[in-house]
Amino acid sequence: MVSIIGAGPVGNYLASQLSSKGEKVNVYEEHSKIGVPVACTGILTSYLSDFVKVSEDYIVNKINETHVYSPNGNFVKLRLKKNFIVDRTLFDSHFAEVAKSEGAKYHNNHKFVSMKNSVLKFQNGNKIKSDVIVGADGPNSLVARSAGIFGDRKFVVGHQARVKLKKKIDSNVVEFFLGEGNYIGWLVPEDDKVVRLGVASHQGTDEHFKDLIKKRNGKILGWQSGAIPVYDPKLKIEKDNTFLVGDAATQVKATTYGGIIPGMNAANALRDRILEGNSYTKGVKKGIGKSLKTHLLVRNIMNKFSENDYNDLIELCGNDSVKKLIYEHDREYPIKLLMSLAIKEPRFLKFLRCF
Ligand SMILES: Cc1cc2nc3c(=O)[nH]c(=O)nc-3n(C[C@H](O)[C@H](O)[C@H](O)COP(=O)(O)OP(=O)(O)OC[C@H]3O[C@@H](n4cnc5c(N)ncnc54)[C@H](O)[C@@H]3O)c2cc1C
Repeated sequence: MVSIIGAGPVGNYLASQLSSKGEKVNVYEEHSKIGVPVACTGILTSYLSDFVKVSEDYIVNKINETHVYSPNGNFVKLRLKKNFIVDRTLFDSHFAEVAKSEGAKYHNNHKFVSMKNSVLKFQNGNKIKSDVIVGADGPNSLVARSAGIFGDRKFVVGHQARVKLKKKIDSNVVEFFLGEGNYIGWLVPEDDKVVRLGVASHQGTDEHFKDLIKKRNGKILGWQSGAIPVYDPKLKIEKDNTFLVGDAATQVKATTYGGIIPGMNAANALRDRILEGNSYTKGVKKGIGKSLKTHLLVRNIMNKFSENDYNDLIELCGNDSVKKLIYEHDREYPIKLLMSLAIKEPRFLKFLRCF
């Protein structure tokens, strides 16, 4: 019997993968409703369809263009393959229903507090013995802490607001803003009036956020905040019969802070461990770990960028051959993109001095 702690996108995806193969799965979620509260922008690349059957049930918008701004206010227009903007509450609950239809059992109002000798203890007093324990319980994973594998993980803070703008915008365009101090800001449209405006950075997140909100005139419909773990390739993601996956295992792209698709990818490696006995750690290392390491490398380089470096980067991206490469090699798996960029436009290599 497999116990999954956390009914987020990664826990639900793993639950359906295991249940569909006849494994007995129980999912324990601390909240009374799945997918609430939300702390996510919900932008997903077209690779989502490699993992799940994409349904209109949870999609609020589709976009295929981005404008990326440098600190001096210049921007580059980039074509993208189709990206989905999802409603996270509907997204999470949709995949919980898929898992249930495959036979997984869900237990809401079950906050995991600790475990000893494979007996899980919940805040409501329930105790359950389990053969396999999966921590899909997000960045502050109590499962990781309980198993003694929380490690020395680092976090970035993300703030976001849903805003109804005064003026209509092009709902097909996502905007990104880059700046010093690990700063990334975004404007993600739900439609031509309602947008998700957010920032994530290591320092000064509040100031960046206030600044962005001030620049975009509109009515605030709601606030969201959350911790985003920085990928740690050295983190232990398994101990005895306990495994971590998704944000609980820091499996998030360090460049854009997207964690849903990498988490699902790692969940496949965990599925193969549970069903077939393959090594989970090796599966992640050989698979999604390579991309996550590349995102981390790029992030570490960009952390040392000055404003001028960002300005130069955006200028270089304006080159037509670079735009074509960015379109062809999606940001989800950046290894091929970086290699092609270095060959096609050697001026990118100058940023290696920040390595
Ligand atoms: C502001 C912001 C914007 C983001 N934007 C994007 C984006 O556009 N695209 C993208 O791909 N990613 C984005 N992310 C990251 C994304 O939200 C996460 O990577 C993703 O949610 C990870 O899924 P998960 O299932 O691993 O964990 P979570 O979504 O965190 O789910 C964990 C689940 O476990 C439950 N839980 C936690 N502790 C316990 C406990 N003790 N007992 C029982 N249940 C528990 C929680 O209630 C939750 O349901 C963003 C994050 C933030 C903060």
